[in-house]
This record gives sequence, structure tokens and C-alpha cells, in this order.
Amino acid sequence: MAEAGSFADRVKQQADIVRVIGEYVRLKKSGQNFTGLCPFHGEKTPSFAVHPVKQIFHCFGCGKGGDVFSFVMEMEKCPFPDAVKVVAEKCGIPVPRQKERTPEERKENQQRAALIEIHREAQAFFVRQLESTAEGRAARAYLEDRGLNAETIARFGIGYAPSGGDVLLRQLMPKYAEKLLVESGVISRDQSGARLFDRFRRRITFPIANESGKIVAFGCRALGDDLPKYLNSPETPIYSKSNVLYHMDRAKEPIRRQDFAILVEGYMDAIAVARAGIGNVVASCGTSLAEPQIKLLGRFTKRVIVNYDPDVAGQAATERSLTLLLEHDFEVRVLALPAIGDKKADPDLFIREKGAEAYIKLLKDAPPYVDYLIARARQMDLSTGEGKQRALNFLMPYVQRIPNRLLRSEWATRIAQQLRIDEPVLRAALNKSATERRGEVKVSPQLVGKPAKQIERRLIRMLAEAEGFKKELAQRLQHGRLYEGLETEKVFAALIVAGLSDEPIPATEIGAQLDERERRVFFEILFEDAQEPTWEEAESCLDALRRRQIEQELAKVQKTIEANPSGAGLRELLERKQELMKQLTAAGQPG
Ligand SMILES: [Zn+2]
Repeated sequence: MAEAGSFADRVKQQADIVRVIGEYVRLKKSGQNFTGLCPFHGEKTPSFAVHPVKQIFHCFGCGKGGDVFSFVMEMEKCPFPDAVKVVAEKCGIPVPRQKERTPEERKENQQRAALIEIHREAQAFFVRQLESTAEGRAARAYLEDRGLNAETIARFGIGYAPSGGDVLLRQLMPKYAEKLLVESGVISRDQSGARLFDRFRRRITFPIANESGKIVAFGCRALGDDLPKYLNSPETPIYSKSNVLYHMDRAKEPIRRQDFAILVEGYMDAIAVARAGIGNVVASCGTSLAEPQIKLLGRFTKRVIVNYDPDVAGQAATERSLTLLLEHDFEVRVLALPAIGDKKADPDLFIREKGAEAYIKLLKDAPPYVDYLIARARQMDLSTGEGKQRALNFLMPYVQRIPNRLLRSEWATRIAQQLRIDEPVLRAALNKSATERRGEVKVSPQLVGKPAKQIERRLIRMLAEAEGFKKELAQRLQHGRLYEGLETEKVFAALIVAGLSDEPIPATEIGAQLDERERRVFFEILFEDAQEPTWEEAESCLDALRRRQIEQELAKVQKTIEANPSGAGLRELLERKQELMKQLTAAGQPG
């Protein structure tokens, strides 16, 4: 697929498969490989492996495997050229401009590019307004009052949308069609449809970037008591609220590194936490978390600390988000910040009042989700049977959503203890209503190849990677036709052709010539931990195959003799038998 010298080939050479797959799957180093939970089938123990040297992946559970492109194709459900582009972009390799396939596509791409450009211009405009107008200076004073210094304002691209109502419009109008301006969401049309105006007026602006750092929307906070307090961009062709997490573009590396994320509600919270030196923070920018946002987050970590506002809406949002996170197998902790004086504290306020260190300490001690919920349940009146029933009814839906049976059981024990409910009674209730929501995928038996014998495995491994002697080995195997009749004959055949070629042929290309079952066996062998092969070992494997070959022929000759002891050609058969016995002795005993 990736022809030598082609752009795809170049991308493949430069791409680090561990990094690319690492954006989708949490990978841990394990020996020479990296392993993780397979994204293609549900599983609780990792059987998905990535080989950094061979640049291939393989799942020992469902059998999927291939190179970085096949991974992205499968993951993004996209065709090969798109996968090449995705990988190139992830690795910072400039993609040569291509002709779009259809006029509609070209139009769409042009529109997206123009919308991004409008956002870039609007962003520069808002920043200038904050810096250099009288109104902007008042806004800046307000920001400083909230503890945001010049460095933070610059770092997060905070700007100001003036009150005029058409200042931005006048700037953009000469360059863009009206329709496009309205589509961008930064400009609105009045109800009569006759007049255009700036959507954001007299507001602090926070640029919202997509995962790759391009500004696609704005979140805006009223400066005074204007309502609504927060006004964001509408859904546009480049922005969908449920697909974007604020600060994700910068948080993804720290999240991956630390293997957990802090989830807050608003951009001010995210900024406050990030300023405190905690980079792995994202904001849902809205009270409840949407499924695409969870999937986005899940590509980087499966562990999250939810730190939403402690008001009623925040509490409800927390509980809704938790439910979704649990369904997606996240390990969830909840940080409920203590009130400051009589004020309920969001992360922004808390860090301003108590400092970053106090926040970090609370973060470290954030209780698992179950404890948070139990604490909520215990606030109910537990002195009566009905009260306990209510508390249980509050907790039960959460428990049922935990896909992991073991974890569910742990929860049951804790709830029983904390609410002083008889554990067997609780378990009975739980079992009655619990249904397994997601089972492990059953591997279809026809995909499971018979395990190749040790000698075959070693030889396959050597043929694939013993640079010093794989050509010699291929010649010997071919010359003696030693691999014929082996379970893995086709794998050998493909490897021998590759071994005799002067061009290096990547494992994925060899795999592409095999059928699914054979490719699977081949990849499994490549992923085995194995010592460096030596020529001595290769020779002893060859000897073993030779003996096998002789033994097989011997058995055949013997059978023919026995079937027809007085037949013609008996003499030749006996001579052949004699000869084979001699060869077998010469080939030595299996050692
Ligand atoms: Zn799998």
C-alpha cells in the first residue's frame, strides 16, 4: 500500500506507531513491546500489543493487526489516503496539497478553511481590543481583579469583544461573504434578516481550540451583569459543543504522561487549574458531559477526577457526567471543594483564595466516586426503612452502570457497610436488577490458528528479522523444500520470497499476502519475547525439518511396502528405505 518513495511511505518511515496509537489507546511498556486494552473489542485485560521496532500492532484477542495506517483506518473508519493524512498531521509532516475528489468536497474544505480563517482574524481582533482600547482596558482591570495577569491573558489568548455591536463586523465584512460570516457564528443576523451584528458584545472572550489547536469557537463571559453570563459560539460546520473539550489541545500531552485528567466545568476553572501548574485539565464548557467528549478524553486516559461546581446544577452535572464516565469504563474520582466562608467554591475561586498547593493536596485526596455518592446518600434520612430504601434507590442506578462485575461487587460491600444495610439483602437486590451491559467479545474459532510448533516459530522469526543470515536461511529452506507440508507453509513461502529479495520488505506487507488466520499466527510470532537468533540455532532447526521430511517419506515408503509386499518395484522401495534410514542417521538425533 505504501509504495516506496511515495508520500505514504515517507509518512510511515517518520511516524512513530507507539505515539500515534498512544493517542487512541493507553499503552504501557511491557518488555520490548507496548500493550494496552484493545480498542476493537471489549476487554478487561490487555491483549493488544504494539511493536515499536517493527512498527506493527496486533491484538491477541480479536486478531486485528497491521501497521500504523491500518490502525487509523480501522479506528477512524476512513479509507487509506485519509489515514495517511491523519498520521502525517499527528506527526507534523506537511501534507502535499491534493485535489479534492468531488466539487462538493472542495467546497466544503474551502468553507472550513474560511471559517477557521475568520476565527483566526476574530481572535486577533479581540486580543487587540483588550490591549488597546479604553473599553478593553476596563475589561483588563476586571481580569486582573480576578487574578489573571498579563502572562495568563496572553497564554490563554483572552480577549475582549467591544460593546459597539458592529466593530468586528466592519472589519470582516470586506473580506467575507455575509452568509459565511453568519455561518461562522461570530456574526449574527437580526430577526428581520436585514441587519448583521457582532454576536459577542461587551464580553471577555476565550478562544476554544479543537484538538489540534485551531480556534473553532469562542466562549464569552459578560463583563458586567449582562445576561446571559456566558455566551458561546453556536454549532457551526467546524464546531460542535459535544465534540470539544476546552484546553484539550494543550492538555493531551500532560494527560497522557500522567495518565489522568481533571475535568472542570468552565474555562475560567480550567485556566485557574492550568495556571496552578496542573496542565492535565480540561473543561466540558457546559454542565453536562457529552458522549463524544468522553470518547475524546478516553483516547488519552481512562482515569479522571471530576471537579465541578458545588452548586445544585454542578452536583446534578457531576452525577450525570459520572454516569456516562462509568459506562465508558473510566476510573472516576470526585473532588468536592470545601466552602470558603459561606461561599461555595469552584476551582477558580478556591485556587485564588487558598492557593495552588491547597488545591493540589485536595486533588490527591479526592475520593473515589463511590464514596462521593455514598456521602450524598448518607445525607438522606437513614433512620427509617423507607429512608434507606430511598438512599439505595439513589445509588442503585450508578452501581448497575458499572460494567466491571468485580468493581460492582466491591461497591455493594461498601454501600452495605456505609448505609448499614444487610449485605446479602443488598446483593440480592443488585443481582436481580443487574444485567451485564457489555460482555467480552467472543473470538470466532475459525480465526484462531493452530499454534505453530516451536521450530516453525523460531524459523519464522529468523526469516523475518535475522538480518545477518535470513537470505541464506531462505535459500536453504527453499532448496530443500523443507517447509512444505508445515502448518505454516504459506507464511514460510511469503517470507522466503521476501528473504530472497534484495529490498527490505516490511512485515505488514508480508502479512497482507496472507489470509487472516496465517497473518495472525505470523504477527503473534513477531510479538513473542525471544532471544537473539544465531546461525547455529538456525542450522539445528533446519536439521529438525530435514529429519521430519525424511521421516515422512520413510513412513510413506514403509506404507507402500506393507500395502503390497510382493508388488513390482519392491526392490527399489527397499533400497529407498535403506537410503532414507542412512540419511536419518546422518541427520543426527533430535537434540
Ligand atoms: Zn482486539
